[in-house]
Amino acid sequence: MKNLYIDFDGVILDTITPVYNLAKKLNLDVKTQTKEIGLLYSKIDWETLIEESEELSNSINSIKELKESGKFNISILTHINSLKEAKAKIEFINNLFDDLTIIPVPKSCPKTMMTQTKDAILVDDYSGNLRLWKEKGGIGVKYTKEKEECEFINITSLEELLEIF
Ligand SMILES: [Mg+2]
Repeated sequence: MKNLYIDFDGVILDTITPVYNLAKKLNLDVKTQTKEIGLLYSKIDWETLIEESEELSNSINSIKELKESGKFNISILTHINSLKEAKAKIEFINNLFDDLTIIPVPKSCPKTMMTQTKDAILVDDYSGNLRLWKEKGGIGVKYTKEKEECEFINITSLEELLEIF
């Protein structure tokens, strides 16, 4: 069995679009005002945000299929800005799955600090996370909504992992 770590925001749920829309309303620039955006993330009502976020390319069912295949030891590895965010994500995952590990990672820590990485797969939508993961001997898989030329294996649905590994 391969160890498989799956990102939450931008891979399982599109939590990013609602936050960016809110940032826009508040006249915040997501690229330059990172501190303000971090603060916004920490103040957001995550239970509502999760309810309002769309599931990305049938991710929940895909994770169920990946689990059933017996090929992967799956954990959710997600950056968090507050304990409330962690709690909302944990509850969301626990309501859907009986037995899935969730590792909340403080935003200021690299994901590589929270778990073993050697030969483990990380699926993430952020190349920065994947680069660090690769440096630590892991396998980076980039999730995007549309196919993309990139330095990592690229998928647009988690189901594709069944064919790749
Ligand atoms: Mg992400």
